[in-house]
Amino acid sequence: MPSIIRRLTTTTRVGGVPIGSDHPVVVQSMTNTDTQDVDATARQVAELAEAGSEIVRVTVNNDAAARAVPAIVEALERESVSVPIVGDFHYNGHVLLTKYPDCARALAKYRINPGNVGGKRHDENFRTIIDVALANEKSIRIGVNWGSLNQELLTELMDENARRSEPRDARAVTLEAMTSSALRSAEFAEALGLSHDRIILSAKVSGVQDLIDVYRMLARQCDYPLHLGLTEAGLGAKGIVASTAALAVLLQEGIGDTIRISLTPEPDGDRTEEVRVGQQILQSMGLRSFTPQVTACPGCGRTTSSFFQKMAVDIQAYLRQKMPEWRRERPGVEEMTVAVMGCVVNGPGESKHADIGISLPGTFEEPKAPVYVDGKLKLTLKGDNIVPEFLAILDDYVAKRYAPAGEPSSPSDARPWVPADARG
Ligand code: SF4
Repeated sequence: MPSIIRRLTTTTRVGGVPIGSDHPVVVQSMTNTDTQDVDATARQVAELAEAGSEIVRVTVNNDAAARAVPAIVEALERESVSVPIVGDFHYNGHVLLTKYPDCARALAKYRINPGNVGGKRHDENFRTIIDVALANEKSIRIGVNWGSLNQELLTELMDENARRSEPRDARAVTLEAMTSSALRSAEFAEALGLSHDRIILSAKVSGVQDLIDVYRMLARQCDYPLHLGLTEAGLGAKGIVASTAALAVLLQEGIGDTIRISLTPEPDGDRTEEVRVGQQILQSMGLRSFTPQVTACPGCGRTTSSFFQKMAVDIQAYLRQKMPEWRRERPGVEEMTVAVMGCVVNGPGESKHADIGISLPGTFEEPKAPVYVDGKLKLTLKGDNIVPEFLAILDDYVAKRYAPAGEPSSPSDARPWVPADARG
């Protein structure tokens, strides 16, 4: 696969997690529990971390939340969950971080929104937060958001624009205000003593084209690591598709060192969805591997049964369920590919190309399902127990191919690369 050349950045450490172009793009997430509810928040952080979130952000919006942060971090330590916790501050970060030093110590990074650090007292409040970061040796993210853009700066740039002989449109000035807000704040933080490698920048908007443009501008003007994500990406398919469309363009250009997918979950929905979407974007682009990939055909009139679709779903669920254990014990398994195909047209070909694949019978085909391992026909399954029998073969394959760390594993047979468009 052609490699993506990352934009060169410094490395900023968030707890034990390095962020920057020398390191893999980091997936992070944010809780939606009330932070003062220590049990609920620690539980959700643990769920997000178990799903693969490498950093988790919590809102720190009031005294009770700031008081809860050290207890949340302790609860996670008791459960051996070692994920860095980032505090999200708006309006009163300077107050909370000084009033609750245990909170300031427990957090791995502070997120500052320069648009709401405090109007006339902006510089003074900003300085207070940087002083706390310096005293505790923490990193910060300067996170600009166009819903809360520094209005003074925007007005200044709009006035300047109006005086031009050929004024630009309001969108261009707004995006410039966002990048200026992030860069000026970073410059100010450094002038206050924070080192260059303790800063990450973000400039979030909710439109795909706006996000691409603002990050391209930011990327050209600095070498800080960049945190990517649409703000308020939205519900379900819309949020997933919009996030993917925006992030794929930027990541392909090497822009972006950590990502967060801001999906709106269904009421009582699974918060970990945003982690899986972030991972899937990176894995689909060949930037990282997190979990074995299931290739399933879409189905068509050649197969009237939904059996293979259900089988693909069952196998995907099985892989997801096994991954926490395999991640620890079976290094490399995240790169495994599994094919579940609906009929003979593309079934054998796609199955041969995967590490392990099954080609189910289409309508009017003989009721048998050949299984391919490392590109070779291993056996043919028949009858009512195809799914458990296939999963047993899968388990056996994982056990042999991906040995525990330090033990030799059986090499897979090399298979020729087949171009995607030749695979049907
Ligand atoms: S593999 Fe068969 S069932 Fe699946 S989409 Fe192709 S032709 Fe249709």
